[in-house]
Amino acid sequence: MPRPIQAFVHTDALRHNVRRLRAFAPDARMWAVVKANAYGHGIERVFEGFRGCDGFALLDLDEAQRVRALGWRGPVWLLEGIFDPRDLELCSRLDLWHTVHCDEQLDMLSRHKTQVPHRVFLKMNSGMNRLGFKPQSFRAAWSRLNQLPQVDEISFVTHFSDADGPQGVAEQMAVFTDATHDLPGERSTSNSAALLRHARAPDVAADWVRPGIALYGSAPDFPQHNIAHWQLQPTLSLRSQLIGMQELQAGDSVGYGSSFQADAPLRMGVVACGYADGYPRHCPTGTPVLVDGVRTRTLGRVSMDMIAVDLTPCPQAGFGSEVTLWGRASKGAVLPIDEVAQAAGTVGYELMCAVSARVAFTQD
Ligand SMILES: *Cc1c(COP(=O)(O)O)cnc(C)c1O
Repeated sequence: MPRPIQAFVHTDALRHNVRRLRAFAPDARMWAVVKANAYGHGIERVFEGFRGCDGFALLDLDEAQRVRALGWRGPVWLLEGIFDPRDLELCSRLDLWHTVHCDEQLDMLSRHKTQVPHRVFLKMNSGMNRLGFKPQSFRAAWSRLNQLPQVDEISFVTHFSDADGPQGVAEQMAVFTDATHDLPGERSTSNSAALLRHARAPDVAADWVRPGIALYGSAPDFPQHNIAHWQLQPTLSLRSQLIGMQELQAGDSVGYGSSFQADAPLRMGVVACGYADGYPRHCPTGTPVLVDGVRTRTLGRVSMDMIAVDLTPCPQAGFGSEVTLWGRASKGAVLPIDEVAQAAGTVGYELMCAVSARVAFTQD
């Protein structure tokens, strides 16, 4: 038998989240953002669940090839565009839409020989200051792009820096609208946070929305809102089992550094899950965890292959009992990944992407 730790990708939850997010922008088309191997889920494992979306947005060319290999004939978008002139050959061959965010990409495109003109998204830096043309140079970039025989339709994209927080999107949205309002083409602005929090504002309406994290059942604005508030479901569950038990006496400590010390007798379980599985080592004593679907807490330090948990709330638990590190227990109880991420001082995104190669995945 392999170690009992397993990750589950829930197709029903992926479908549910697609339907739920569509309701926030019913008139827009929706990209499923599947970069980073579908936020750690595996592109092949989310494909069925996301079939109802209008396109797949990603960064890596090999991921684009995998989406095509699955038989997807609809839009595929390289969110960062190309990295090398040869990438354009793949764009032509696989009909990939690609972002153009800098003059170097424009130069490469102008030298590309192709029979089929490309569909491109011209990217504006409206304040995030990562990728994109500044508003004052946007029109010049558009004119150049518009004259290239290699280019078919031009669409417009910008990315928000503060859609999840109090600053919101109004300022960046105004910059983007001001610089593009008289240019012909479709627009895409909203990531998950903007879609959930701002897409109903008339000035944020766009032709395409592009959620990632919310499709995977993590709230982009946690802890202000949780997935229950947004009515989203976890799509990735990390589950293992108890492989040992200890009866602690008052004064006994647990694990490396003896960082947890019992002040009274306590029944404790050992879980086959550690940081080598992608469970964050920074989770302190008290991080929530489900044993047999019952919520309890971790004790002491996370080690490479094991975690200790308090069995006080679940006295029936024993060797082989199911432990849900995050996601959905097999009996249905839910522990949002955002709560574990918060305990570790990070975000759900990072935990999803960090589940390690030694964890077997199952699609259900
Ligand atoms: C990752 C990404 C998204 C999706 O962001 P979420 O916060 O996961 O919804 C959207 N647009 C771009 C350009 C991205 O890189």
